[in-house]
Amino acid sequence: MKPLLELVNVCYAYHNKNGETPALSDISFQVQRGEFIAVVGPSGCGKSTLLSLISGLLVPESGSILFAQESGDRGKTGYMLQKDHLFEWRTIYRNVLLGLEIQHRLNEETRARVDKMLLDYGLYRFRNARPSELSGGMRQRAALIRTLALGPELLLLDEPFSALDFQTRLTVCDDVAQILRREKKTALLVTHDLSEAVSMADRIIVLSKRPARIRSILELDFETGLTPFARRDTPEFKDYFNLLWKELNEHEPDAAEREDI
Ligand code: ADP
Ligand code: MG
Repeated sequence: MKPLLELVNVCYAYHNKNGETPALSDISFQVQRGEFIAVVGPSGCGKSTLLSLISGLLVPESGSILFAQESGDRGKTGYMLQKDHLFEWRTIYRNVLLGLEIQHRLNEETRARVDKMLLDYGLYRFRNARPSELSGGMRQRAALIRTLALGPELLLLDEPFSALDFQTRLTVCDDVAQILRREKKTALLVTHDLSEAVSMADRIIVLSKRPARIRSILELDFETGLTPFARRDTPEFKDYFNLLWKELNEHEPDAAEREDI
């Protein structure tokens, strides 16, 4: 099947008055429809840069980023970030409708879709509340519904749980995985948390330190339908975690040799 997204030999460097910062080097991979891919790598290696390139905020210096024909252009990607960016002066309902309002796509059909998601994911009775009245986990769910309201084909998640405390993080991780599975979404999750990657993904792309190259791609073979929480309880979980840990740490030079310390 034709992949939803394909990157071929993508390279990118930032340029400013102090010179050049190479961020990505020769990145190639494919994402199939419905897949959940996690991208892990050391802090500052170029993970967010990768998502900016896929969303079209940045343009590759060389190489190409191809979307399946029928998925149209990059208007079909949705972003979810560490901060939920909900506006306190709007109710939850008016926050989740904001994207549709801006794009002049608020109509009976899109509003019904939002209402259904609010109901399905336990936020309907909070629709008239302000963001500050919700827990961190509920806010992230609201932010996800706001993103999904626009009907993106590919979701780009950039460390979306890292501002949450550990307990909340586990619950939200479960919620988000369930929502994405039910909505049949394709997702690319960037995280520096290896256990998060192992608990959620179908495949994990391991990046080297900057400029990021693909070190390896790990295929996860869990029983189908397990929630992130349930995956954490399996014997394979620890094996995958250790494999990733080794992969990331074995090849990195000692701290003393690193230019960025
Ligand atoms: P990550 O998300 O993996 O932590 P980033 O993609 O944010 O890494 O950044 C990769 C590298 O590019 C870092 O060294 C960072 O300092 C540098 N960088 C990021 N944005 C810019 C920018 N706008 N101008 C110059 N350098 C940048
Ligand atoms: Mg980042």
